[in-house]
Amino acid sequence: MEKDKVLKIVRTLGVKSVGITLALCLVYSAGISKIKSVKEADLRIFDTLYAFAEKLKGPDRRVDNVVLIAIDDESIRNMEIRWPWPRSYVAEAIRKISEFDPVSISIDLIFTGKSDDPNQDIQLANALKGTDNAIAAAYFGGDGRYVMPDESIADNVNAFGFVNKPRDIDNAVRRMRPFVMSTNGNIIDYSLSVKTAAEVKDVSSEQMVADIPLMDDDTAYIHYFGGAESFPVIPIWKVLKDEVDLRQVRDKMVFIGVEAEVFHDSYQTTVGHMPGVLIAANETLTYITKDFLHSAGFKLNFAILFFFVLLAVITGLRLSVIHGIVINLVAITVFLSAGLALLVKSMVLDYFGVIFLMITPSVILYGNRYVSLALENMMLKKESITDGLTRLYGYKYFELKLKSSLKKALQEGKMFALEMYDIDHFKNVNDTYGHEFGNVVLKAVAKVLSSNSRKNDTVARFGGEEFCVLIPETKKDIVNMHAERVRTKVKEMEFTTKKGEQVKITISGGVVNTEEYISEEHLDILRAADSALYKSKETGRDKISFFQKGDELAEENK
Ligand code: GH3
Ligand code: MG
Ligand code: MG
Repeated sequence: MEKDKVLKIVRTLGVKSVGITLALCLVYSAGISKIKSVKEADLRIFDTLYAFAEKLKGPDRRVDNVVLIAIDDESIRNMEIRWPWPRSYVAEAIRKISEFDPVSISIDLIFTGKSDDPNQDIQLANALKGTDNAIAAAYFGGDGRYVMPDESIADNVNAFGFVNKPRDIDNAVRRMRPFVMSTNGNIIDYSLSVKTAAEVKDVSSEQMVADIPLMDDDTAYIHYFGGAESFPVIPIWKVLKDEVDLRQVRDKMVFIGVEAEVFHDSYQTTVGHMPGVLIAANETLTYITKDFLHSAGFKLNFAILFFFVLLAVITGLRLSVIHGIVINLVAITVFLSAGLALLVKSMVLDYFGVIFLMITPSVILYGNRYVSLALENMMLKKESITDGLTRLYGYKYFELKLKSSLKKALQEGKMFALEMYDIDHFKNVNDTYGHEFGNVVLKAVAKVLSSNSRKNDTVARFGGEEFCVLIPETKKDIVNMHAERVRTKVKEMEFTTKKGEQVKITISGGVVNTEEYISEEHLDILRAADSALYKSKETGRDKISFFQKGDELAEENK
């Protein structure tokens, strides 16, 4: 029996949770994840985790396989170089470097067309002729046209490859494109990095790209072995002016490129700002080491998302807010730690979805629960302060209200009036027509009172057949008019008993105005009203009387 109950709860809870989770995950994967700011948030988390992973792994000495010959700010100053970059300078640098047998010389500079001075082209062509491992840069123009280096260069290098970089939605470079295909599916060419890696590994570019974990758009993550500060750099002026020992380039991959900001070849990357040539160096190292980052792929990402969101939904449906928050925070921490551990092992997940979908449903479910709880509390509170029969406030609430109004009157001078009503000969009504009919009368009187009061008035059932109204109004005419209206309306009512008898009733009222009489004791105010009411009863009932200066307070009765 008990077991059946448990099973039933598990089943209903399970079906509901799984349903909600599945819906959330599908909506996220198919729609929300495609939103620009969501993608950006995901990339931001990736960058943060990547930085952490790098710290955990420590500096990667594989960057020492590269030497960057940098056309940097100090070289521009030192050589008084002006744009366009003189090809003779590059020629000179190449000539000097190649004497020391680097494994490759990648020139991340775009030399298209002829120089103004034909001599410059001849010098560069001659320098390149003296190398057997130089790779030059090309690029795909905005119109998709492949712009190759000038033939004086193209004819004398081992290879050339494009240097275009795929950008993410936030314009940062996190991925690389190993090759570009034409619309009919043939490879047009490979990148400078692939060509360099192929040169170093002595394989064809085709073989080089054979086992890259490509994503749907034929890109792959760049493994950033280091940021701008990590790579060995030689400013080109030191090469040209023999200010550096070039033996350090032996057996290294040499990259020649610009590092000066003025050339606008600088990009935001996973590990900060970086010149294009260092991105090329990182790409090349990625190809050579085959130390690729892998995307977890849709299925695994969806499974992870489903697992964590299910946890959030179940806690949201079943657990207290505090427990839920703690469990969700722990789960998010576990997820991010696992994500970090996997990233150290070169696996990239979708990060944002899990965090977003763990927090959002929790907020909704808990928010929903909180609101309904608050509503319930409000209703309970109202229930406890209102009278069950007439739905007016009860004595307790009225007393609180009277106390606070009196305080305001005494401190801020906000005066008020208090009306007290009592049904005339109500005992007779009860005795003649029955208690039940008496209740009908009580309800009807209550209705007259509430429908003739304004929002700021407080109408209460004070006792058995006594009612009080607190009015934030002290003009005698207005208060009197109100009381008279109530009295008249009650008098005009006609009741029919079950037996068909026609019955009419009247009420008497007593009013105290705090401008006329005030005391620090709220009970005194009530006694004053009671005293005025007594005056009405004494002088024939069905009337309203005012408490006046000098009148005696009624005896304490409440
Ligand atoms: P007076 O004009 O002097 O006020 O005469 P009265 O008969 O109204 O005076 P009294 O205060 O003696 O009677 C009040 C009666 O109200 C007594 C009681 O039976 C009746 N009563 C009090 N509470 C209820 C109630 O909830 N329902 C009904 N039907 N009668 C009630
Ligand atoms: Mg009475
Ligand atoms: Mg009465």
